Amino acid sequence: MSPEDSIMTSEQAVHTRAPYWVDVDPAEWYDWRWQMSNRLNSVDELASVIDLTDSERKALESQGLFRVDITPYFASLIDPNDPHCPVRKQVIPTATELVPFQAMMEDSLAEDKHSPVAGLVHRYPDRVLMLVTTQCASYCRYCTRSRIVGDPTQTFSKRDFDMQIDYIENTPQIRDVLLSGGDPMVLAPKLLDMILSRLRAIPHVEIVRIGSRVPVFLPMRVTDEFCEMISKYHPMWLNIHVNHPKEITPELAIACDRLTRAGIPLGNQSVLLAGVNDSVHIQRKLVQDLVKIRVRPYYLYQCDLVHGSGQFRTPLSKGIEIMEGLRGHTSGYAIPTYVVDAPGGGGKIPLMPNYLLSQSPGKSVLRNFEGFITTYQEPLDYDPQEVKHLEDQIERRPEKGQEGILELLEGEKMTIEPKGFDETRSRGGKEHRLRSGGLSRKWLPLGVGSIEAEDGTVPEQLPDPQEND
Ligand code: SF4
Repeated sequence: MSPEDSIMTSEQAVHTRAPYWVDVDPAEWYDWRWQMSNRLNSVDELASVIDLTDSERKALESQGLFRVDITPYFASLIDPNDPHCPVRKQVIPTATELVPFQAMMEDSLAEDKHSPVAGLVHRYPDRVLMLVTTQCASYCRYCTRSRIVGDPTQTFSKRDFDMQIDYIENTPQIRDVLLSGGDPMVLAPKLLDMILSRLRAIPHVEIVRIGSRVPVFLPMRVTDEFCEMISKYHPMWLNIHVNHPKEITPELAIACDRLTRAGIPLGNQSVLLAGVNDSVHIQRKLVQDLVKIRVRPYYLYQCDLVHGSGQFRTPLSKGIEIMEGLRGHTSGYAIPTYVVDAPGGGGKIPLMPNYLLSQSPGKSVLRNFEGFITTYQEPLDYDPQEVKHLEDQIERRPEKGQEGILELLEGEKMTIEPKGFDETRSRGGKEHRLRSGGLSRKWLPLGVGSIEAEDGTVPEQLPDPQEND
């Protein structure tokens, strides 16, 4: 490692090095490979740095535990004498991690169910999640992919990558690829370079994103060499994962500075964790400290219904309370979107306090964060058709069955029904003169979707159902 590659001077580092490692040569301490090879995972190793509780010892000695590995750098952020330390809780298991809870699942987001190719999740119309590794720099106790993460036997092969990339190549609706895992930033540099170059060669892939906790667990991995490599593939975006202000160290600040100087916009995804950051005031400090290092808070996730996360779960109302305490109270740039990743695979659902109090034709009644109530007078002459000629010049990508509520608003459909809706309501009755199955047009709403006349105008008269029966 060259001196320029070193993330910071040894003088600065004293702040984030536990006494146990104080004699380690700075050249080693700042070498990400040294950090990876000297991770803590056994009871004895952890006990030499941290005063372990009985509950932590019990968990660490149990069978079938989700993998434990902690970089010396991140372990140095732990208060060795405080069992409530927010950094410690994220990476050191306790016995409560082993307690099952109602609605717990192995794959609560149904990722493996919604994956056309192993490790590729195509949930939303124009983007995919590409899992490229199952390894991380350290392991979070609430990990949503604990079913595969940390397990070297589950890792992805060259053949998996080929199939993932083939699928992306053959699916032109994909314009955005998110690399995740595991953590893509622990991949061998050449392998990550190869994946990025193959993705960049696909003309319809407009942006590539990386989700990584490496800048937080292993900031020394963010070398100039690494930044140069990924900046070859712009536009690149990167989301880091910080949960508590204690994780925002000088080392993380330097890593983020390098990444932003390399032209990579940074966002943060945090997880709402009971006993770690389930507080308006902790969250406010977190988001304010993030924007100071030029990281835009992006998502605040509700904890998933996944094995091992029971101790971290909060009611949704806690998330709403936190959003209430952020919006208006601090800069808009510092406010993440609070989301529930829908159990069963529905994707992210944003939640927020209700600021729209009431409406009548022409008026909306709104409230602000202070409880100030105002009226927004709607325009009386608004013509939504005026923009149509501009809108028609925009190329649209097909969304194949995922048009959703927008399809109702745009008048393509009037209803969205659960599977079996009509069958249930026909009560098993036979076809009769008033109900002529799918051929009848009597339930097609005039002017909505397919009932438009051939010239695109809406017929003046309702079609006579008898004509079509
Ligand atoms: S870094 Fe991400 S993938 Fe790895 S253990 Fe933590 S949450 Fe899971």
